[in-house]
Amino acid sequence: MNSVNNTDAAKPAAGLSINKRSRSWWSAPLREVLDLAFPPRCLLCEVIDYSSNSHSGSYCSECAEQLCPLPINRCLCCGAEIGLYSMSENGCTHCRHRNLRFESVTCLGMYEGPIRKAILAAKWSFSAVPIRSLGRLLATERREELQLLKVDRVIPIPQHWRQRVFRHFNPAWIIAEEIASALQVPCDAHLLYRQRQTRAQKRVPVSQRFGNQAEAFSLQDMHVVDGERILLVDDVLTTGATCSEATKLLRQNGARECHVAVLGRVLDSSA
Ligand SMILES: [Zn+2]
Ligand SMILES: [Zn+2]
Repeated sequence: MNSVNNTDAAKPAAGLSINKRSRSWWSAPLREVLDLAFPPRCLLCEVIDYSSNSHSGSYCSECAEQLCPLPINRCLCCGAEIGLYSMSENGCTHCRHRNLRFESVTCLGMYEGPIRKAILAAKWSFSAVPIRSLGRLLATERREELQLLKVDRVIPIPQHWRQRVFRHFNPAWIIAEEIASALQVPCDAHLLYRQRQTRAQKRVPVSQRFGNQAEAFSLQDMHVVDGERILLVDDVLTTGATCSEATKLLRQNGARECHVAVLGRVLDSSA
């Protein structure tokens, strides 16, 4: 499925300027009435923030800053924070002993403090608005880093159909849509699927997580990714077992490179 930009999708191809003009006289007063009745609040600290576009779900400038810490030295292979002068071409202490198959990880930051709070709230919300806002934040704040990867396709880590029965949405899919829209490449949410249900990774000992994901995925079409650079998207990355298993399958089917984008990087000790 191609990426969906709800705003763009709603735009008519013709007569746009006429519609805009006819709408303009009532849209501003309506916005003021809405602001009074439902003040726009930051999704994280809930402070009323009239300067933001919080009706569509966003964060105040202070929270947005905390959710996108300035890029410091991160491991090139797994995205973990490392010492300022540490080199990571061959991985870091968090990933060197693992056989991670993907090339790189892009993230907002480590899974702690405000980032952890925002991700947990978004994942367990009945609304998809908070997770979409975090996805948009990742897509815009890490745009340059993501553009350098020159990916051809964005693929979210899928849920098993049994998981979908109990969840309102797949967070990875929504984040992937936002990234694909920013990079202007297709978001393919149906290509990769889970052929068997695995135990939730957080309930499996760290040492068994790679085995838990073994042969978990399959592809709807084996020829689509041939020669392509792929960006796999998930909400968080802990051991990297899930994305590594998906990478293995994509590589077996001809993918040239596989990179990963997540909201937060979780270290094993805090998993
Ligand atoms: Zn805030
Ligand atoms: Zn690493």
